[in-house]
Amino acid sequence: MLRMTVLKLLHTSQQPATEQELVEATLALANGTDVELNRVLVPPAPAGFNQPGHDLWGFPTDDGQAPSTWEAVWRETLERLRADLRARLAQAMSQPDAAAAAAVRAWHWPRVQPVLRLVPGGLRLTVYYPVAGLEELCDLGVALILDLDRGHQADLCRCQLESCGAYFFVDRGASNRPRTKYCSPAHMLAFHGGDRGAARVRKHRARRGETGAPGRS
Ligand SMILES: [Zn+2]
Repeated sequence: MLRMTVLKLLHTSQQPATEQELVEATLALANGTDVELNRVLVPPAPAGFNQPGHDLWGFPTDDGQAPSTWEAVWRETLERLRADLRARLAQAMSQPDAAAAAAVRAWHWPRVQPVLRLVPGGLRLTVYYPVAGLEELCDLGVALILDLDRGHQADLCRCQLESCGAYFFVDRGASNRPRTKYCSPAHMLAFHGGDRGAARVRKHRARRGETGAPGRS
């Protein structure tokens, strides 16, 4: 799967991102991509730190090499948020009722704003949710994924390739067998050639009474 380092999401009341874009940004964030919201890298600075007014990655470092303290703290905050998001997606798959209850508790958009815009070829009606940062993006993205009418929840999958574990939606693609276990054809091949191939060899050896740990199934 192609992974961007930073996904740039524009989401303003004049130019709101579509729900699809918000959902995709949520999954990208869960899968290790950083998200820049309205040209600002989020999450906001942790307490006690002032976010630099300029590009975060141009922030001066102590010796020109090591990441600045700010960046280290920011990264730690982001990875905590990412781990929390991944836990919520895992729960959305295994315990959708509990995930839904948590999403309802986290909901905090009393006033959303419909935005009707002219775009090339017609118009677009988008609901603008004022998302202040990544935490709110996660809350919104998870709620959109869980919504029963939007159909994402039933389509949510996690890549079975151990080294990946990315969240993705079922790919119904061109073939008549939807891809539900692997985030990409490449990871399906890697799993069959790698993880499972190795497991098959271990099983075979175990049957022949060779030494070594019994194969995982
Ligand atoms: Zn994968």
